[in-house]
Amino acid sequence: MSWEAPLAERVRNLKPSPTLAVDAKAKALKAQGVDIVNLSAGEPDFDTPDHIKEAAIKAIRDGFTKYTAVAGIPELKEAIAAKMKRDYNTEYSADEIIASTGGKQVLYNIMQAILDPGDEVIIPVPYWVSYPALVELAGGVPQFLMCSADDGFALDIDGLASMITSRTRAIILNSPSNPTGAAYSEKDLEEVARLASQHGFYIISDDIYDEIRFDGKAPANVVSINPECRDRALIVNGVSKTYAMTGWRIGYLAGPAAVVKATSKIQSQSTSNPNSIAQKAAAAALSGPQDCIQTMNSAFAERKEYIVSRLRGIDGVKCVEPSGAFYAFPDMSAFYGKKHAGSTISDSLTLADYLLESARIACVPGIAFGDDRFIRFSYATDMAVIKEGMDRLEKALGELE
Ligand code: PMP
Ligand code: GLU
Repeated sequence: MSWEAPLAERVRNLKPSPTLAVDAKAKALKAQGVDIVNLSAGEPDFDTPDHIKEAAIKAIRDGFTKYTAVAGIPELKEAIAAKMKRDYNTEYSADEIIASTGGKQVLYNIMQAILDPGDEVIIPVPYWVSYPALVELAGGVPQFLMCSADDGFALDIDGLASMITSRTRAIILNSPSNPTGAAYSEKDLEEVARLASQHGFYIISDDIYDEIRFDGKAPANVVSINPECRDRALIVNGVSKTYAMTGWRIGYLAGPAAVVKATSKIQSQSTSNPNSIAQKAAAAALSGPQDCIQTMNSAFAERKEYIVSRLRGIDGVKCVEPSGAFYAFPDMSAFYGKKHAGSTISDSLTLADYLLESARIACVPGIAFGDDRFIRFSYATDMAVIKEGMDRLEKALGELE
C-alpha cells in the first residue's frame, strides 16, 4: 500500500518563515560561489561580545550543563528583572518572568496560553512575518489593522477601536518595528493601554528592538507609559538583537504570574528549560557592561543614514525614516507594471525575484509583512555590502522599462 505521510491540518497551510527562507536561499547561493549581496537577514553582523562568550565558556568548564528550572535560572531572572527596572521603571518578581528559547518561543507559548479557537488578535500591518502564523497555530484569528507610511506607520487608533469585538483577546505591538523601523508615540501607547483596560484584552509588547534606537528616545512600552496596564501587558524581549546573540536562543517574557505559569507549563511539556549555557551568557549580557550596545548602535545609525539617503535618491522610491531596529522598508510600487526582458514586475514578489536573479541582491518582499507595496532591506551588514547593494539596486531599477 502506498503511504503518503499524512499531515495535520494545522501544518498543511503553514508556510516556512519567509525571512529565514530568503536568508537560507541567499546563503546557499553564496556557498555555490554566487556573488550575492545579502540584505535579507534580520541578524546583526557583529560578533557576540567577548565578556558574554567568556561567561558561556566558564559555564561549560564549571559543568553547568544539566537541566535547569524550566522557567530559567534565578541569576538570569534577576538580570531580566533588573533590565525591566532599569529601562521601564517596572518591578517584576521571579514568578512574573520566564526565559525561553528565543523571543519566538516566548510568542509561541503566549499564543498557546491565551488563545482559544476563534479568539481574535489584532496585528498592525506591516507586521513581523511570524505573528499571523503564531496566532493561527494556536487556533486564533489574526485581525489586521492597516497603518500608513504617510503617517510614518503610526497606529491608527480609531481604526483599532472600531475592530475590537467580544472575541478580541490581544493586540501585538512591536516598537521599534520589524520591518518598518517605526516606534510608537507615547500618546498612541497610552491610547492602546486605555482601550485594553476598557475592553479587557492583552497587550503583547514585542520589545526585541527596544535598545536599537536612533531617535534619541529611551526604550518605552505600554507599562512604562501607563503602569496600570501591567496586569494585561505581556512584555516580550530577548538578547538576540541587542547583544548580537541570535544563535544563542534566549528570549523572555515579563507579565502576570498566571500567564507566566501557563507558559511555563507549556514549556515543561515541550522543550523544558532553555539551554543552560546560553542562560549564563544571557545573564552576563543583561547584567554586564552595556557599552557594546552603543558601539553597535552607532554603526547601525551610520548605515541607516546611508541606506535611507541612497534609497530616497532613486526616482520612484519612497522611504520612511526608521526610528530604530535595522531595516529600511521603502515603497517600491512605482516600479510595478514595468518590464524587463519581456516579463512584468507586478508585485513585491516579482520585484524581489528580479533583484535576486538580475542584480544578485537578496531582500524580503513586502507581502511577507502584509503590504505588497514594499521591500525590506536589512542594514545589519557592513557598509561595503550595503553600498554595493544600493549600487546594484539603482542600476537594476534603472534597467526596468
Ligand atoms: N520579534 C521580532 C519582531 C523579530 O524581528 C524577531 C527576530 N527573529 C523575533 C521576535 C524573535 O527573535 P529571537 O527568537 O531570535 O529572540
Ligand atoms: N527576525 C529576523 C528577520 O525578520 C530573523 C528571521 C526570523 O526569525 O524570521 O529577518
